[in-house]
Parts: sequence; structure tokens; C-alpha cells
Amino acid sequence: MSKEITARSQDYSQWYNDLVLKGQLADYSAVRGCMVIKPYGFALWENMRDVLDRKFKETGHQNAYFPLFVPKSLFEAEEQNAEGFAKECAVVTHYRLKTNPDKKGALMVDPEAKLEEELVVRPTSEAIIWNTYKGWIQSYRDLPILINQWANVVRWEMRTRLFLRTAEFLWQEGHTAHATSEEAVAETKQMLEVYADFVENYMAVPVIKGVKSPSERFAGAVDTYCIEALMQDGKALQAGTSHFLGQNFAKAFDVKFSNKENKLDYVWATSWGVSTRLIGALVMAHSDDDGLILPPRIAPLQVVIVPIYKGADQKASLDEKISVIVAELKKAGIRVKYDDNDNARPGWKFAEYEMKGVPVRVAIGARDLENNVAEVARRDTKEKASLSLDGLAGTIVTMLDEIQQGMFDKAKAFQQANITPANSFEEFEKLLDEKGGFISAHWDGTAETEEAIKERTKATIRCIPLDNPQEEGVCILTGKPSKERVLFARAY
Ligand code: AMP
Repeated sequence: MSKEITARSQDYSQWYNDLVLKGQLADYSAVRGCMVIKPYGFALWENMRDVLDRKFKETGHQNAYFPLFVPKSLFEAEEQNAEGFAKECAVVTHYRLKTNPDKKGALMVDPEAKLEEELVVRPTSEAIIWNTYKGWIQSYRDLPILINQWANVVRWEMRTRLFLRTAEFLWQEGHTAHATSEEAVAETKQMLEVYADFVENYMAVPVIKGVKSPSERFAGAVDTYCIEALMQDGKALQAGTSHFLGQNFAKAFDVKFSNKENKLDYVWATSWGVSTRLIGALVMAHSDDDGLILPPRIAPLQVVIVPIYKGADQKASLDEKISVIVAELKKAGIRVKYDDNDNARPGWKFAEYEMKGVPVRVAIGARDLENNVAEVARRDTKEKASLSLDGLAGTIVTMLDEIQQGMFDKAKAFQQANITPANSFEEFEKLLDEKGGFISAHWDGTAETEEAIKERTKATIRCIPLDNPQEEGVCILTGKPSKERVLFARAY
């Protein structure tokens, strides 16, 4: 059956779009740059959200909600943040429409309903949140504040791509307030670990943990920590960020507290976020030319069982046997579906579930029943085996773990094979064009050189890895001295 997915080798970005659309994750919308997340895609997001939410709570955070709109005067308060986001802001200027006297049936902005103060649709919520924290914090006893918000934000991106970069996206943003710099830095690092753990152990996508160079930092941050993932086409993707904001927002919003020595000091801040971009990362890191490949731990559906039969008698005996297996799988906490819809043929169903990346497919026919076996197929390796119906649920539970591990191992091997050192600019350019991936190279530490490299090669510094070995060398572009290598890549 032709599923009309463009091959990766032919056009990687079309392959990606085909998968997102035909895998039923999302659809384009009437709004440029904004997408519709379809039920299957949203179920995936919900599973990701649930795991992260649990991890946030385990590390002491609580959820809260702040307004979508930020008054412009508040938005401006932290200058670097405001400047960094200004060119991507949607702004509400009016609060009413009226009928258009010149055009029947049309509406127009009511010029008399102009807002006194314009409202910025949040591209991130530090401003509104720190303006609120001002009223909540007086003394060290009020600290720390450990809050997370699940929300949508708007960044008016010019070049958008389903999930990876949209004008409106769903995310979570943690915003914490602390009495000391050390505590805030520890929080920043802790949340980076939470993200890395989630992305590696649930999404099966290996990441590199690091710190951004000053020019790639979040606007208003003192330090931006990040996790960087590698896609199958050799491009990198920023999968999550955790920012140490120092006292920048406390100063901008005048948030002071009296410390244990009864002295006034500004509060220390962090913020951290991951978005629906992670779904794009998942698709690009694992899938193949036949469709999505989803890791069992977050797949909306982990196992599908398809009966193959002729006539009501065969169907009845299959139903009987399969209902026991389904019950056992459910008891083991497995998300399983028995697809006995007789409007679709088994072959069609196989293709559909392959496209949607369901980790395990079980097919059972009347003959199988006689032999007490089922055909079990793994989506990741495409291996098929005829397995005994005795203890099948247990076999499948083990198989799901093996798939999860296998997917991570495969992606990890790919990542490791695609971190390459370059010792000259020629070598750097050649590697970028011929191999891609992360290129580990010396850089003189200046923003000018970083920009010049970006202009000439489109590669950016993805991060300075944590625990980077110190190694004397010379910058690949300027020949100036360098103390350590940094990771470059072309990125999404
Ligand atoms: P930031 O607030 O810029 O540190 O971004 C927080 C998270 O959202 C990071 O993981 C980004 O990779 C992700 N992100 C940033 N811009 C977009 C976008 N336009 N669409 C989807 N995700 C985004």
C-alpha cells in the first residue's frame, strides 16, 4: 500500500511534514505560522506533559497561572528581555470591533476602543510574573517560590515549521525566586537535569548538556543552560533551556527581601521551559520512511492487536482469546487497543499503525489460534516473530522495554558517531557540508568570531558542554588562543 511519504534521502523536510500530517499529529490552520494539534498529537503531548509535571512536583514545584497579556510598561521593565523579544511580539491595541459602514457584513476595529496602554501577548512571562512576585516577597521566609505554568505563548516567527517553530506554541515555563545566587544556580542546573532525564529516558533522544555562548543566551539571562539533540539529517535542535537570571528581573521590578541578617537584597531568579517543539524532536530523531516511530514510554498507544478472520465464528473465538490478552496488558498498565473494526482490512490497519508509530503490533488469525501463537511485530526494527499466546502479555511488556532501550541506543550511537573534531576552518567547512552533526572546535571566545563563522557557514555554537575538558588550542577562524573546544552545528 502506498502511503506517499517522501523519502528522507529525497527531501528531509518534506518527509518531516508528511509524517506530522499523515501520522495525524497536527494540521495546518487558517492562521499563518499556527498549527492545529490533532487528537493523536495531543495525546502524545499529554503523555509528555504528565511525566514532566510529575517530575516538577517531585522537585518541589507547584503549578499556577498568569495572564496571557502583559501591559507594555511592564514588558519594557527588564530592558534586555524586552529588546530581545520586541521584534517577535504580537500587540493588542484595541478591545472592540464595530460594523464597517463602507462594507456590508464586514467588521472593523473601533477607533474609539483604543486601549490606553497596549498589551503584549506574552512571548514569555518573566515580566508579568516578577511584577506579581513583588507583592509576594518581603522576607527570606517567603522564599523560595517554586512555580511552574503550563501555557501558550506567542512569538511572531517569520519562518515557521510544524512543532519545531510555530508562532503560537504550548509549553511550560518555570519561574523561581531564591534568597541566594547559589540556590538559584542549583535550581537552574537541577531543572536542566530534569529535562535531560526526560528527553533521554522517556523520549529516547540523547542530548548534550551545556551552556550557551553569550550571544545565544536568553534575553535577560546571566547564563542559559541547554540540552541539544541531534536530528537524523545531522542538524541540531535546542530541546530545552534553563536560565539563571541573576537579579536582573528583581532589579527591574524592584523585588527586594530582607535576608537572615535583616539586610535588604534583591531576589535571585531562574526560568526554564520546554515546548511542543519536543514533538518535532521526537519525530525527526526516530522515524523512518514508513512513518513515525514512537518510544513506548510516551506513545499514545503502545500495543495494537489486529484480528484476522473469516466469518463470525472465527471472529468470536478470536474475541474470546484476545480479550484475555487485552485485560492482562491493561492490568500491566499497557496502553492497548483491540482494533476489530471490520470496515478496514488488516493490511490497511497495519499500514496505518506503522504510520502512526505504534511500538508493537500483534496480529492473530484463526490458524494462529489453533497453533496457540500470534505474530508480533516491532515497529522500530520491523522484526516479526511468531510467539506463544501463553504469557504473551508478559512477553510484550518486556519487548516494550527492549524497544525503548533499543531506540535510545540507536540514537545514542548516531549522536556519538556525529560529534567530530575540526582543527582548521577548511576542515570545519568540509565536515559541515559532507557530514553535518556536531563539530567540536576551538573558538576565540568573541561574539565577532561567532558571528563571522555563522555568516560564512550557517553553523552556530550550540553549547559549551558541561564538564568540557580544558584543552589549549587556537581558534579555527582567527588563530587566537582558546582554552576549550565548543560544539558547533547547523540547527533548526
Ligand atoms: P526560551 O524561552 O527561548 O528559552 O525557549 C524555551 C523553549 O521553547 C526552548 O526549549 C525552545 O527551544 C522552545 N521554543 C522557542 N521558540 C519556539 C517556537 N517558536 N516554537 C516552539 N518552541 C519554541
